[in-house]
Amino acid sequence: MSATVSTAGPPAPGDFHAARVARLRDRLPTLGVDGYLVTHLPNVRYLTGFSGSSGMLLVAAPGARFITDFRYEEQSKEEVRSAVTMIAPGPYRDIAAEVARAWGLGRIGFEAPHLVVKAYQELREALGSGVDLVPCEDETGVLRRIKGPEEVAAIERAVMLTARVFDAVLPEIRPGAREADLAAEIEHRMRREGAEEASFPTIVASGWRAALPHGRASAKRLEPGEFVVVDMGARLDGYCSDMTRTVCVGAPSEDARMIYEVVRQAQARCEEGARPGMTAREVDALARSVIEEAGYGRLFGHGTGHGVGIEVHEEPRLSAKAEEGMRVEAGSVFTVEPGIYVPGLGGVRIEDIVVMEEHGARVLTPNPKELLCL
Ligand code: ZN
Ligand code: ZN
Repeated sequence: MSATVSTAGPPAPGDFHAARVARLRDRLPTLGVDGYLVTHLPNVRYLTGFSGSSGMLLVAAPGARFITDFRYEEQSKEEVRSAVTMIAPGPYRDIAAEVARAWGLGRIGFEAPHLVVKAYQELREALGSGVDLVPCEDETGVLRRIKGPEEVAAIERAVMLTARVFDAVLPEIRPGAREADLAAEIEHRMRREGAEEASFPTIVASGWRAALPHGRASAKRLEPGEFVVVDMGARLDGYCSDMTRTVCVGAPSEDARMIYEVVRQAQARCEEGARPGMTAREVDALARSVIEEAGYGRLFGHGTGHGVGIEVHEEPRLSAKAEEGMRVEAGSVFTVEPGIYVPGLGGVRIEDIVVMEEHGARVLTPNPKELLCL
């Protein structure tokens, strides 16, 4: 089929979804299957636009069938254009088996990393002995690593929403404020700005708690001289944002200032040095080497970043332990978030979202990174 040039303005969302289903379908011969079952909901959303919480998708040469139940009948009419929706009166697997028989499928691939054993066994039974169930990698996840321009634009909107909310909440970050109140305020404002939800529970971690890389907001109150790590994200139009800024309430100690500077430099080195085609390990090392050279290597225990898209944590994961062949290609969208955590004392993390372009990473997060003393 040849590409057609549209003169009717930007493509409708359904066109993106249909093109993604077609790309997945093109992979089937290579996988040695004639059908492929998508059960991981973020993948279903990527391929169909369906934003509900229950459904599966069967893709094969004759077509694509989206299977859900009566709760989503109206919603799927609105959202799903790239597949024919079937409303299942009972278990979805029975419908999948019916379609497989009608289409004469002999080998159906499934997302081995996502299907739990019980669901596999039930599916196996429903399909009967005429059909092979073939464990496959998360093929849709591979497609999702490279974002289309429409996805980058959606992520950018989510990033800008988060940036505005952070700026709006800054005046409330002061001694005496409670971490949990600040987190609630952030999440409330994100919803008011149009976010579907927070893309993860907001982190506000102050003082010694800032040394906990994933310290949830607690009842602790901010005290003068403390670092406050604020890590927040929103889901907007299906896509996530994720940003961290560390600010100081009152004046930081010299040591604290020094740690902040090292993290800032590590972050800058990574954002400036990352190039398409580098491995995830190489990108991680850009930030990690700065922290190691400053003598804090032991205190940076997590990866430098992770892919962001429909899920807030997806491939490529940037760490020293990243999968050997994992590369950061043009079109990857990921975070750069080095940190230093001193147990009992405090911590600093700075996190942006960047999109990898032809010549390097473009930073989407607009918020400044000089140390802010409030
Ligand atoms: Zn984050
Ligand atoms: Zn993150």
